[in-house]
Amino acid sequence: MASDPLIVNLAPTGMVPMRADTPHVPLTTAEILADVERCAEAGVAIVHVHARRPDGTPSQDPDDVAPIVEGIRAIDPELIVCVSCSGRIEPSLEARAAVLDLDGAARPDMASLTLGSNNFLRQASVNAPDVVLGLARRMRERGIRPELEAFEPGMLAWGAHLAERGEIEGPHYANILLGNPGTAPLLPATLAAFLAVAPPDTTWALGGIGRFQLDATMLAIAAGGHVRVGLEDNIWLDRDRTTLATNAALVGRVAQLAALAERPLATPAQARERLGLPLAVPR
Ligand code: ZN
Repeated sequence: MASDPLIVNLAPTGMVPMRADTPHVPLTTAEILADVERCAEAGVAIVHVHARRPDGTPSQDPDDVAPIVEGIRAIDPELIVCVSCSGRIEPSLEARAAVLDLDGAARPDMASLTLGSNNFLRQASVNAPDVVLGLARRMRERGIRPELEAFEPGMLAWGAHLAERGEIEGPHYANILLGNPGTAPLLPATLAAFLAVAPPDTTWALGGIGRFQLDATMLAIAAGGHVRVGLEDNIWLDRDRTTLATNAALVGRVAQLAALAERPLATPAQARERLGLPLAVPR
């Protein structure tokens, strides 16, 4: 429904942008937490976490991820924390699943589950069927909700298949990533194809890659979806790439668009209720 509170998912860091690309990408734990704090004030409910090593390269090491999750809990224990299980550094199940064992205040609420393989501009993202299933099972055992990531409609169809087999349990949340060169472009028709095959009752969000981020936000708000935004997917504020964005500016723009569209922003508590997520740590 178009008046549904809009769940904003912040992807502040990702694995790709480096300091040379933009001075605004938060790389250290302190920088990431400062951005999360600003963006939480602006209305973010979910934070999609990637860690970096001191040299800025991506890290899947739980020891690098833990202080970020704990820091987000300290900012607001109701914020939903989603850790990345990306295979772009190391495709093996064990390397990717290690963050799922984080405990206490470092335990994530959600973890990304890319449902298939695809190409990025310079790299392939390989998600073999046994690894996808292995991650899904590990998440289920640990009570961690998958953030279903789909670059093609068939990936969400696979998610529906896993849901039917009880391998993933809802309420389901899916990020539909549009505008990556080589996968589904940002068009109403492609969105319709994703939604037609998604698991039943999926809360869906759109993320637009690069210059498609703004369009993805507007389409999602208008169509009753939710939004993923942040420097992980797009470092520019404008389509002509003259002004580098900050995470806070990107979230601020989503908040403005939501206000114009008369969609209130979901608080973290409202997002937890919608996604059936308990509060992660006692206050
Ligand atoms: Zn990510």
